[in-house]
Amino acid sequence: MTRENKVYDAAVIGGGLAGLTAAVYLARAGKSVIVFEKAGRLGGFSQTTNINGALFNLGPHAMYEGGAALQILNELGCVPKGGYSSKSGAPMGVRQGKIVQMHTDLSPEENAEWSELMSGLGQIDTGSILSLSLQEWAANHIRYDVVRMFFTALCRQLSYCGDPIVLSAGYVIRQGQLARQGVKYVDRGWQTVVDDLHKLAVGAGAAIATGCSAKQILLSDGSVRGVLLSDGTSMETRAVIAALGPGEVCRLIPGSDEMSLGKWKAASRPLYAACLDLALKRVPNPERVFALGLDQPLYFSNHSSSVTLSDNGSYVLHVMKYNDNRRDTDPKTDKEMLTGLLDLLQPGWDKEVVAERFLPRILVAHDSRTVRHNGGGPAPGPAVPEIRGLFVAGDWVGPEGRLADAAMAAAKLAAQMSMNASMRCIIS
Ligand SMILES: Cc1cc2nc3c(=O)[nH]c(=O)nc-3n(C[C@H](O)[C@H](O)[C@H](O)COP(=O)(O)OP(=O)(O)OC[C@H]3O[C@@H](n4cnc5c(N)ncnc54)[C@H](O)[C@@H]3O)c2cc1C
Repeated sequence: MTRENKVYDAAVIGGGLAGLTAAVYLARAGKSVIVFEKAGRLGGFSQTTNINGALFNLGPHAMYEGGAALQILNELGCVPKGGYSSKSGAPMGVRQGKIVQMHTDLSPEENAEWSELMSGLGQIDTGSILSLSLQEWAANHIRYDVVRMFFTALCRQLSYCGDPIVLSAGYVIRQGQLARQGVKYVDRGWQTVVDDLHKLAVGAGAAIATGCSAKQILLSDGSVRGVLLSDGTSMETRAVIAALGPGEVCRLIPGSDEMSLGKWKAASRPLYAACLDLALKRVPNPERVFALGLDQPLYFSNHSSSVTLSDNGSYVLHVMKYNDNRRDTDPKTDKEMLTGLLDLLQPGWDKEVVAERFLPRILVAHDSRTVRHNGGGPAPGPAVPEIRGLFVAGDWVGPEGRLADAAMAAAKLAAQMSMNASMRCIIS
């Protein structure tokens, strides 16, 4: 990376999906831009790692047809190759250590209620039920317990939030409407999306600096004046897009706790999960592709059933426990629950292991964005009201979407807003 004596219009801090998306939009608009990424590689939470020939995303990752991420990738001309999570076969649940198969284990009335619920999902006016909890909505609209359990499990999967009392019915049903358009797994993992965005950014003229950590965003008279890097270099700039979590942005700005940034950080409600990523030589029961816990917050999916995720023919499976906002979970107990689920669904799996990675307490999202009463105030960013030239992007920014959809939508908006600012950025 050559930064010497180069003048840039904008600086982006963070080389995940959001930072790279912002860089592509800026560079394509003719702005000179540099991305600072503190890690030695790009991708953040969207990176894929090759372990023994198996391509592991950081836990299970999927994109929604109709969501902002795929819309933006389409607009940029780099829709990833992939396959759709199986729509065939009856939904499978696990309750009290036993498999519950929708069509065969439910009564005709229960099956009919599920079919009606699914076929009517697209017609629900989600805007009018945003302040209703999932629990209230389900109690009013679903008669049978087991159907309610399946629906609640599905909503947990869609939101990563396991508490139907705080989960907004309107929010999660909107996600369900997107999911019905297709849930896409990416061939060879989400790193391909990161690599494509990287190529587009560089091709459009952006500079990318990995292994380069921002230490402070420099301000003067309420405006961005530069970025101080951890190696002691400082640069002057009028526009910064901080594509980071709210806590990370606050750490870069002394006194930010007293600003909107501090309030946004305090109001954010992060979500966590325990993930077991597995590659198997052979899947003991290939018919069992996907299952959700009905009485425990568990997820199982064989992603290799629809995409290629290895160089050696092994199959990549993900099991996960949704931990919601809880950080006090016990990794040993969580791992036992995950392996117990595998024992039930894929007996003998442990004799087929090619690669295995346990992530006991991984941050999935900086903000759940799913709570029905979120203070009623406007959604955070992208512009930071107290600081001219500073914009934020990430899964916690803006009113729309969740996870990567929210992060990329916010990044596009931040790039567009920052272009209106007068920008010149000089490396000293
Ligand atoms: C288990 C799991 C499952 C998930 N499943 C899904 C899913 O199914 N669908 C979906 O849409 N999303 C999913 N996500 C979320 C998705 O991965 C994220 O929303 C997305 O990757 C966020 O991208 P980002 O660029 O906003 O942030 P990040 O990926 O966090 O990128 C931020 C980058 O900034 C860098 N950085 C931090 N501080 C500095 C600094 N001071 N200077 C320079 N660089 C810095 C970091 O190293 C990082 O690379 C999942 C995440 C997890 C963990």
